[in-house]
Amino acid sequence: MTEPEVAGSDPTLIQTRAYQDGDEWIVNGHKWFISGAKGAQLAILIARTEDDPDIPQAANSAFLVDLPAEGWEVVRDIETLSGSHNHCEIRITDLRVPADRMLGGRGQGHLLGQSRLGPARLAHCMRWIAQAETALDMMVDRALHRYAHGSLLAEKQGIQWLIADSAMELYQGKLMVLHAAYRIESGLPFRTEVSMAKHFVANSLWRIIDRAIQVHGALGYSTDTPLAGMLKQARWSRFADGADEVHQMTIARETIAAYKDHGTTRAATGDLPL
Ligand SMILES: Cc1cc2nc3c(=O)[nH]c(=O)nc-3n(C[C@H](O)[C@H](O)[C@H](O)COP(=O)(O)OP(=O)(O)OC[C@H]3O[C@@H](n4cnc5c(N)ncnc54)[C@H](O)[C@@H]3O)c2cc1C
Repeated sequence: MTEPEVAGSDPTLIQTRAYQDGDEWIVNGHKWFISGAKGAQLAILIARTEDDPDIPQAANSAFLVDLPAEGWEVVRDIETLSGSHNHCEIRITDLRVPADRMLGGRGQGHLLGQSRLGPARLAHCMRWIAQAETALDMMVDRALHRYAHGSLLAEKQGIQWLIADSAMELYQGKLMVLHAAYRIESGLPFRTEVSMAKHFVANSLWRIIDRAIQVHGALGYSTDTPLAGMLKQARWSRFADGADEVHQMTIARETIAAYKDHGTTRAATGDLPL
C-alpha cells in the first residue's frame, strides 16, 4: 500500500493506478516499506481504480499478484535504523493482473485494509508485549544482582518506581489487547479499542525497554545484551500500521461522537460495566 511520494497515513492519496484492459488490469506505480516482499510468491497490491468515487475512501481496489511477475521489480531492501529486514521498495511498470484476481469488489481496497488491520494490529501488540515483558524481566534480574551505595538496585525506591511503572503498563497493555480481541471475536465495533491498544502498547514498549537500559547502565547501551537492538526495533511501532497521531485522531473522534450521541463518553472507553 505505502508509497514514498505521498503520506501513507492517508490512503486516499495513493498514486499507483490500475486501468482495465479487456479481462486484465494494467498497473503502474511505486511502493516502499513492503514487508516480506523479497522472496514472496503473492502480493496484495492496492491501486487506484476509481476516478470519481462516492467517497474518497472508495477509490482504491486490492489485487492479488502472483510473483515473480513481469513489471514487478524489487528495487532494494531498505536499510533502516535497525538494519535490513525485508521491507522493500517496489517499482511497478505495466504489470498485468487478470480481472478475476481483484480481491473483493472495485473500490473496496480501503474497506478490506481496515478489516485486516484490526486483528493485524493486535498481532503486533502481542509481539510487543512479549518484548516489553522480556525487558521487564531483564530489568528486575539486573536490579536483583547489581549492588551500589550499600544495597542492591532492587532495594532502591528509585529503581522500584521504574519496575512498578513498567509492570503497570504491561498489565494495562495486556488487558487492552485482550478486550479489543474479545470485541473483534464477539462481532462488536472494535476500531477505538484497537487504536487505543496499538497506541498504548507501542509507546509503553519504548518506555519499558528504555527503563531496562537505564537500570543496566553502560551494559544496556552496549550490544552485549539484546536491549539496544530491541529499542531500535521498537521505534517503528509508533508509526507503522497507523501513526500515533492518526490513532489519537480516531480515538478523539469516537470519544466526541459517543458524548454527542449518549451524553457520556463511556461507549468510547471500552463500553465496560464499570
Ligand atoms: C518496519 C515497517 C514496515 C512496514 N510495512 C509495511 C507494509 O508491509 N506494507 C505497507 O503498505 N506499508 C508498510 N509500512 C509503512 C507504514 O504503514 C507507513 O510508514 C505508515 O502508514 C505511515 O506512512 P508514512 O511513513 O508515509 O508517514 P506519513 O503519512 O508521511 O506520516 C508522517 C507523520 O506525520 C504525522 N501525521 C500523519 N497524519 C497525521 C494527522 N492526521 N494528524 C497529525 N499528525 C499526522 C505523524 O506523526 C506521522 O508519523 C511499514 C513501515 C515500517 C517502518
